[in-house]
Amino acid sequence: MSVVAALYGASERQQIAERMAEILAAHEVDPVVSLPSRELERLLRDPQEIVLCPLCKAPLASTVANLPERERGTVLQPEWRSSKREEGVGSSIQITHLKPLVESVIIHTAENVRYGHRWCNVSMSDHSIEETLDFMEHVVRVHGRCKG
Ligand SMILES: [Zn+2]
Repeated sequence: MSVVAALYGASERQQIAERMAEILAAHEVDPVVSLPSRELERLLRDPQEIVLCPLCKAPLASTVANLPERERGTVLQPEWRSSKREEGVGSSIQITHLKPLVESVIIHTAENVRYGHRWCNVSMSDHSIEETLDFMEHVVRVHGRCKG
C-alpha cells in the first residue's frame, strides 16, 4: 500500500495504513499468528522505509541507487534459438527476501519479504543483505573504487 502510494502518487497513506492495521487486527487467523506483524507495525511507524529498496535504499519508484538507467541490449542467445529476449529492467520491482530462503524453514513471511529493485534482488542471489554488503565492500575495495 505504501509502495502503491509512492509509485502512483496516492495520498492519505497513513489513513490507509491505519485502516489496514485495524482490519488485520480484527481478522481471525491461526492463534500462533499475530496480526499486524511486528514488521508491519514497524513499517507503519516509519512508512517511508517501505518505499525504499532494502538493499540500495533508493526509492522503489526511482532507479537503482538513484543511478542513471542504463541502455541494455538483447540477451545473448545461441544461433539455433529463434527468439531473442531483452534483459530485465534493473529498476523494475521484485519480491525480495531480507534473509535468504533455506530448506525446511518457513521464512517466506511478511517479516522477511519486501519489494526491491530487480538489480538489487539479483545481486543478493541467495545471500542476506549483510553478506551482500560484505561482498560489495570487498569488490569496491579491490577495484580501488572507495571514494570516501
Ligand atoms: Zn535497489
